[in-house]
Amino acid sequence: MKYPLTPGMKDLVLEAPLYRKLESEFMELLLSQGFSEIRTPILEAKELFVRSVGGDSDIVSKEMFTTEDGLVLRPENTAPIVRALLNDQELPKKLVYFSPQFRKERPQKGRLRQFYQYGFEMFGETAPQSELEGLLIIDQLYKKWGLTNFEIQVNYLGNTQERENYLTVLKEFLTTNQDKLSSKSKERLSSNVLRILDSKDEGDQLVVSQAPKILDYLSPESSQSWNQFLDTAKSLGLNLIVNPLLVRGLDYYTGMVFEVVDTSGNLGSQKALGGGGRYDKLMQDLGGQNLPAFGFAGGVERLVLALNKPIEPNDRQSIGLITTENLVLPMFVELKNKFSNLNIDICFNTKLGFKKMFKRADKLKCSKVIIVGSSELQGGFVKVKDLATGNEAILNISIAQLDLNNL
Ligand code: AMP
Repeated sequence: MKYPLTPGMKDLVLEAPLYRKLESEFMELLLSQGFSEIRTPILEAKELFVRSVGGDSDIVSKEMFTTEDGLVLRPENTAPIVRALLNDQELPKKLVYFSPQFRKERPQKGRLRQFYQYGFEMFGETAPQSELEGLLIIDQLYKKWGLTNFEIQVNYLGNTQERENYLTVLKEFLTTNQDKLSSKSKERLSSNVLRILDSKDEGDQLVVSQAPKILDYLSPESSQSWNQFLDTAKSLGLNLIVNPLLVRGLDYYTGMVFEVVDTSGNLGSQKALGGGGRYDKLMQDLGGQNLPAFGFAGGVERLVLALNKPIEPNDRQSIGLITTENLVLPMFVELKNKFSNLNIDICFNTKLGFKKMFKRADKLKCSKVIIVGSSELQGGFVKVKDLATGNEAILNISIAQLDLNNL
């Protein structure tokens, strides 16, 4: 093939109507909850992600598509939204998006180089206000999409002091056991100890299962508010599963982090449908004011896999016009104008002959064809055939509104 598809990228045709549906359902829900849509540029300064997501994160260390002049294809949308808010503090504080992101990852099932994310960010509210509001929306969203096999896992990363104390103990423990760690995790002992907790390596996981847990290193006040948060969530009907090993891959999280995990087993190792958490320091770290924040992002491709619905190839929508007469173009325009409520969008070449026109209409997945022959023209009527059922009906052209759905 001369121009093969770039690895990890997809042409969306059959899935396009499903993507459109998911987008509109997501937007409808979030807009009804006081969110405003934001569309950020696809290209951003590389430095934005180095400063926010973190230099040691997988995204920044190896997954960004970078241009010669220091720009990157947006790998995620939280940092660009914080940047937008830094530039214009008057922007609404609850923002929602549905957009493609780009990461140079090894393509596999549920892992692409261009993928779509649906997500939102909430600024200005401290814990646990946005946590509860956000998680309730997420729970509602997945249920609305008909997903039954999922769970929301949560963890608390502590305040700055608690996290520092915990990191000292964790590093000590992991250093003592470093001969059992993978080489990547050994490297992380000096660069980002916390990330060792969510290593996918089996040997690492065995060591980590014995490691001290952050929830045991919280101050009594933090411990109390964390338990209170869990109780309130439960009373609101949220079934949260505490996973003390959940840290998420990005550096900017503080406080509560969470992941929505598919439990059907259909997604293999890429079972995280989405995730997020609190990031109260990011705005300040990027040079702005102190503004608490909470966000979520989910992946559309994994959602489509989890929904596990066959994508109907015969999404028949078009209506074709088949005629043996030479008046084909005026007829097409007249019918199209007259019945503007119909989607008459394909006009077949009369030179093809009747049979071939039908074949072509079928191939192009027309739901119905309008047939106009010489007797029809003289009589002022048309024949309509439903290509899925084979039903036919004669319709009078002079009737102002044809209802082709009731053949
Ligand atoms: P993250 O921004 O890494 O927290 O990812 C949030 C969600 O986006 C994940 O839970 C996935 O559903 C999705 N996602 C992340 N990376 C990819 C990828 N390379 N391909 C497909 N989906 C992805």
